Amino acid sequence: MAALLTALLAAACARVPVRLDPVPASEVRLKRFVLMLDGVPFALMDSLWREGHFRAFRPPSRLISTFPSLTGVAFRDIWRETPTNGYEDRYYDRQRDRLAGGLIDHVFNGEEHAGFHRNIDARANGLSAGLAYIVPMTMGREELGQLRRYVRSHMVEDTTLVAYIVSTDALAHRAERDQLCTFLLEIDAFLNALREAAGNDLEIVLFSDHGNDLVPTRLVRLDDSLRAAGYEPGTHVRGPADVAVPRFGLVGSAFLYTWPGQTPAVADIVRRVEGVDFVAWHDAPDRIAVAGKGGTAFIDVDAAADRYRYRPVSSDPLELAPVLDRLHRSGQLAADSSAADSVWLRETLDSPFIDPLRRITLGLRAVRNPADIIVSLAPGYHFGDERADLLVGVTGTHGSLRSTSSLAFAMRTDSALPDPLRSDQLDHVVGLPRRAAERTH
Ligand SMILES: [Zn+2]
Repeated sequence: MAALLTALLAAACARVPVRLDPVPASEVRLKRFVLMLDGVPFALMDSLWREGHFRAFRPPSRLISTFPSLTGVAFRDIWRETPTNGYEDRYYDRQRDRLAGGLIDHVFNGEEHAGFHRNIDARANGLSAGLAYIVPMTMGREELGQLRRYVRSHMVEDTTLVAYIVSTDALAHRAERDQLCTFLLEIDAFLNALREAAGNDLEIVLFSDHGNDLVPTRLVRLDDSLRAAGYEPGTHVRGPADVAVPRFGLVGSAFLYTWPGQTPAVADIVRRVEGVDFVAWHDAPDRIAVAGKGGTAFIDVDAAADRYRYRPVSSDPLELAPVLDRLHRSGQLAADSSAADSVWLRETLDSPFIDPLRRITLGLRAVRNPADIIVSLAPGYHFGDERADLLVGVTGTHGSLRSTSSLAFAMRTDSALPDPLRSDQLDHVVGLPRRAAERTH
């Protein structure tokens, strides 16, 4: 522990070098650098670019994250990897009826090496990533310093490098917006120095996985409401009263696993809880119910024909009334009130919940152990680890269907990217490089 504190203090005092140590131009082999920044919202990167920063890049495009707008599912989708066990590293294992994942499975069952992580050459180790959420700016600078040294030593060996920075997400959760901006400008300075060292024909692809509401949040009282109604939120589902609830981080969504037949009753309790925007569950094989405080709407999915229908029954929880009106007036709704997937995408770009129908549909089957109910929270609320909730303040979070949580960015140096991009389209456009082995920096 003493060694750790010493390292932290040293990192806190370290100056961040902007220049890379000199490398003879003839020795540089690096041609392509892919850098993933966890949790940087599109709006923030867009404002920095408009102010004249990140000028090595073409303007950022909107990258529409998954629902839930969480790193595990979002980066999996961006890299088009096979589905992960759960929405995040702590999940409910339906077959074994237990909560799984987390630190133990990371270390002993190799889960850390699954999914998109295996494509990354350089990233912080698990301990540094965890500390970033306690002292974000200190660990951010430490992480950036390590990345700079890694790139400096590998740019003479490798033609392509893929790196990942987690501290940007930690800053968005735990520090003010200004601090995240300051850190992003330090990343910009590093990238400019890298281009200087490697030559201007170095292609850099820069993107994030999800956004952040960037408003302070507090815990939503799901457990209290479930208990008051006679349910027992916990780690198993062994009877009708049990609801398994995996907890990780302090995020804008929650995942509930219920006893067969109990899903609608549990959903009806949770939709009324303060801070809940809506709950979504499979009401029938091709139909999803979406319920908010005011009532319920249905999404009918015709996956084969790539069409969706939204039917507000007793309420309009996704706030799509203006969109439905526009579609109706412009003749874009079919006789059965459905519309093409591409139409829903285009017409919901500026709505409070961007691209909602497809994202909710995919969210309910995004992982190997999908939740019976996904809860999407309003800005200002979080759910997750109650011990963490007592220990730390939260300046912003993500995870919900809200556009602020869902809009990430993507940009590159040599040409502009299409705008908007769904997360699973980025790879098609830029051709993300695959790595067989993984190293930590
Ligand atoms: Zn996060």
